[in-house]
Amino acid sequence: MSGIFFVLYPNGIGNKPFHRTLYLTQRTNSIYLFILNKNLVLQSEAVAPWLAPYAYGIVILGFIFFLFRIFENWYAANFDKPLFRNYLVFKKLSSAQLAILTTEFSFYNKLSEKQKKQFEHRVAKFVSEKKFVGRGELEITELMTVLIAAVGCMLSFGRKNYIYSLIEFILIYPEEFYSKVNNDYHKGEFNPRERALVLSWKDFEEGFKISNDNLNVGIHEFMHAMQLESTKNRDLDSIRFTKQFQNILKELTRQEVKNQLDKTEFFRAYAFTNQYEFMAVLAEYFFESPADFKRIFPNIYNYTKKLLNFNFAGY
Ligand SMILES: [Zn+2]
Repeated sequence: MSGIFFVLYPNGIGNKPFHRTLYLTQRTNSIYLFILNKNLVLQSEAVAPWLAPYAYGIVILGFIFFLFRIFENWYAANFDKPLFRNYLVFKKLSSAQLAILTTEFSFYNKLSEKQKKQFEHRVAKFVSEKKFVGRGELEITELMTVLIAAVGCMLSFGRKNYIYSLIEFILIYPEEFYSKVNNDYHKGEFNPRERALVLSWKDFEEGFKISNDNLNVGIHEFMHAMQLESTKNRDLDSIRFTKQFQNILKELTRQEVKNQLDKTEFFRAYAFTNQYEFMAVLAEYFFESPADFKRIFPNIYNYTKKLLNFNFAGY
């Protein structure tokens, strides 16, 4: 025991010199306990005065942060966009990863320098946080991880919350795969129970290489994950999503819009399977045919743009 005291209190306890403390602790257990208790009292008296300003500081900072969060939510609800999309931008891609973005992903090249840094940070974070798993004979390559992350981060680029909390695994098949969900072959699938986004690499590649056929399985499946997240979470992006989605549904009930849908057959029939497929197909059209979408259904286009807070690269 005296050894411990020596380490902690080389100058003795309170106003007692060290040798006296040592002597007392060696006498009986009860005296030792007395010293220990007295020591605790002395310690708090000695420490409290200099600790107090820090404690007040922490409480005040916590309160300021709380008020900021209220303001941030109020701002997002009233102005239909997050106050800040990015607080910190620090992650960098390797030169090989960056080369993939610049040569393969045209959206990246349309961004400003500041937006490019944000996009890079987000793609790097996505690649490091998600687990990519190859299925069948497929071996995961850097091209796959970077491009899948890039499509996900493009769709969520207007949001503060961009990382897709319901996705943990990205499963990649070489081509169409058999799914037990409905005993059929799929090009892509979002499986919330397994926390997995499942993609056929062949179809994913075609989806974004042919950029004007309104078929993009990557965007489609990421939108499923984003929409489901918005029904489960209460963060400012999920609240904005729900609000704009309601606006879109309301728009679809207008007779004029119904007539326009029938007359133009602009959206492929699959969109009308259910509300999730509708949003997923809408997102594909938003990215692949923005000009036609805007011209034929200006209100739905504007609500989709607000839902994604998408003010980049000419959209
Ligand atoms: Zn779907």
